[in-house]
Amino acid sequence: MSRGPGAAGRHALPRQPHVTLEVSLEAFTPHYGPTTGQHERNEEEDIDTAPLYYTFPCRCSSEFVITTKNLEDAVEVVGCTGCGEWVRVLYEVVED
Ligand SMILES: [Zn+2]
Repeated sequence: MSRGPGAAGRHALPRQPHVTLEVSLEAFTPHYGPTTGQHERNEEEDIDTAPLYYTFPCRCSSEFVITTKNLEDAVEVVGCTGCGEWVRVLYEVVED
C-alpha cells in the first residue's frame, strides 16, 4: 500500500453536525419581528402572538437563531451565525 500525501481523499461527512451543548428554548430570547416600522400584510396568517424567531448568545459574541418555521419543522439543531458551533434546542412540540 502506498501512503502518499494525496491519498487522504475521504469525504466522511457526518450526518449530524457537532453539537456542543443543549439549550432549552426557554433560555432563548424571543423576537416578534423586525422593528422596521413597515406594515406588512399578514395575508391569511394570524400568528402575531408567536415570536418569529429566537436567539441565544454564543460564546463567540454572535448568536444562535432558530425560527418558528424551524420549530414547526421539528428542527432542533441550529448553528451559530458567527462560528461553527451548534446547539440542540430543547422544546416540547405542541400541537394545536
Ligand atoms: Zn458562535
